[in-house]
Order: sequence, then structure tokens, then C-alpha cells
Amino acid sequence: MMPTAYAVLDLNAAEHNVQQVRSYAPDAKIMAVIKANGYGHGLLRIAKALQNVDAFAVARVDEGILLRKAGIKNRIAVLEGFICAEELDALVNYRLDALVHSFAQLEIFESRAEQVICAIWLKLDTGMNRLGFKPNEFNAVYQRLSRCSIIRQPISLMTHLANADDRLDAATLKQIALFNETVGLLPGQRSIANSAGILAWKESISDWVRPGVMLYGISPFPDSTGEQLGLKPIMGLHSRLIAVKPIAKGDKVGYAGAWICEKPTTVGVVAIGYGDGYPRYAKAGTPVLVNGQRVPLIGRVSMDMITVDLETQPRAKPGDPVTLWGDGLAVEEIARCADTIPYTLVCGVTQRVQIVEKAEL
Ligand SMILES: *Cc1c(COP(=O)(O)O)cnc(C)c1O
Repeated sequence: MMPTAYAVLDLNAAEHNVQQVRSYAPDAKIMAVIKANGYGHGLLRIAKALQNVDAFAVARVDEGILLRKAGIKNRIAVLEGFICAEELDALVNYRLDALVHSFAQLEIFESRAEQVICAIWLKLDTGMNRLGFKPNEFNAVYQRLSRCSIIRQPISLMTHLANADDRLDAATLKQIALFNETVGLLPGQRSIANSAGILAWKESISDWVRPGVMLYGISPFPDSTGEQLGLKPIMGLHSRLIAVKPIAKGDKVGYAGAWICEKPTTVGVVAIGYGDGYPRYAKAGTPVLVNGQRVPLIGRVSMDMITVDLETQPRAKPGDPVTLWGDGLAVEEIARCADTIPYTLVCGVTQRVQIVEKAEL
């Protein structure tokens, strides 16, 4: 029996998207970012689909441990690094690279006497003001890290772009220049570019690139879809109509009666809601595909259901297939209708949604 609400994952698209990364950055090594459960696609599933990349990046130590316990052998960088000595032990035990961004981490390293067992990425804050050392702190920190016996030399060097998805924001070039100036001629591999950097700022392509969202076939830019960039979306989200019924002028649909019927029409009830990860703030008019045809969302999104206007689909009936995003309906478009970014939509798909890998269909 097919589940009611399900996400179809086309894992072959992952390899295609990696090839796209390579076409933009042919000489760079690829650190595939698979944090947050592989952007909602499944941490291990995505790691296995991307085995040919040079390294993975996750946000937290426990994500890295999960990958190691499952037998993933690639290099893995932990983007938030460690927050205590016990986490450093775990990084070392599971052969995970540590991001180093704080003086607290530096002091933990200086208290250790082991020899050359931890690979690190030193993070420089070039303007995002989130993680990383300030340029004026960098030299002293670098010197201190160079003297830590536990750290494998040379240290790799990293920064993160704050607004690369705005192709016109000159701040990105300033960040890149500040990074290059600060690290100067030090030995060690460099890494700057996220997906938007890879696609829009060739100056950000260095020894390593760190694509995330583009690997899933999704655009990092607000004004384009992954498909327009030559990417193939991995995820489609689907469900079915469970009820179809006429409504009259003046009828109110859904919680708070937030949508009022202006002329007689037919309401379709679809088994998907915010309990599945469909965005609660999708506005009336957000497109939904019923039998492959666009119809507008009406009324509020509930936990388990949404309602759509079936005026243009008089023959639609319970059981008919519905696509919330996927083939013919870009997740980027749904994100715009919900005043969010597509990252949050794919990350937010919940446990209840059954995952179906495309080959299984
Ligand atoms: C999440 C993340 C990335 C990937 O970003 P995308 O926009 O998904 O490509 C790269 N680097 C760091 C440090 C990140 O946190």
C-alpha cells in the first residue's frame, strides 16, 4: 500500500548535481554539506548517494559520529567544532575534522599533549559575525595553534559568505579579499564558497568548495529555481485528495474562516499539513498540483490537511494524486509563497512523511 503522504527522492539527481559543482569548480575538492539530516533528505542516504565527493561537512559532532558508525569513510568536517573536551575526544576517536572558531576551543587544544591526531579548519570571521576569529586575532591564534602538538599541520583555513545569494552585493568580494589578505601565504588548504559562491562568485572558488543546497537540486538564489541553474531536484512531496465537496458563495473554509468563498466552487481536501512539514504560512493562492494541474491553496494550512479550490478540476475525486512540490512545481516557488527559503521546506519534512527512493517506485 502506498503511504498517504510521501516524499519521493531521486538519488540519481545527486550525482548530476555533483557534476554541476565540478563544472563550476573543476579544480576544487568538494566538501558536500549534509548537515540537518542531509537537508531533510536523510543523512546516511545522502552520504551514500554522494560517496565520490572528497569530504562531507555536518554541523554537529553527533552527526559525524552517526556517519562513522554507519561505515562512511570519507573525510568529515564538523562545522560547529567542539564545545568541550569530551566532544574533542569524540572528534579524535571518530576521526572527524574540527572547525576551530573560538578561544575556548584554542585553550582546550593547548591543554592537550597528544601527538598529531586532530585535523582542523581554522575559521576566520570576514563579516558574517557568527563563528570565527576576527582578522586582527588571526595571526596570534594561528601561531598558538601551530604550537599545539595534538593538531595535524598545516592547518586548513576557512571562512563563510554571508550574502553570496545576492549577486549584486559587493560585500561578498570584500569578504573574499579580507580572507585572502588575512591568510596571506600561509600553507594549508583554503575554503570559502557555499553553493551561491560556487554559482555566482568565481573569486570564492579555492582549494575546497562547500556546496549544500545545490547538491539537492535547489537554488540558493531568491530569483531562480534549481532547474533554471541546470540542477535536478532530488525531493518531491506528494499526497492525495481525501475529500471533494461543493461550497456556496459566502462559505468560510478552514480555521478562523480565513478564506471566504466568492462564488460557488468545489473544495478539495488534501492529506498534508504542517505536521508533515508543509509550511503553515503558505498563503491562499499557493499552487498545488492535483492530477498534475495547478490549483490554488485556499484557507489556512492545518496540521494534517490543506484545502484547495478545484474549480478548474470538476472531475477530481478522493484518492487522486497531489504534488506539493516536485516535478512541475518548484520548491523555490512554494518557499516564496510562504515567505521562506526552500532550505526550510526540505529540512522541515517530518518523520510522518514516508520516504520513497525513486528506484523503488
Ligand atoms: C550550510 C553551510 C554551507 C552550505 O551552504 P549552502 O548555501 O547550502 O550551499 C557551507 N558552509 C558552511 C559553513 C555552512 O554552514
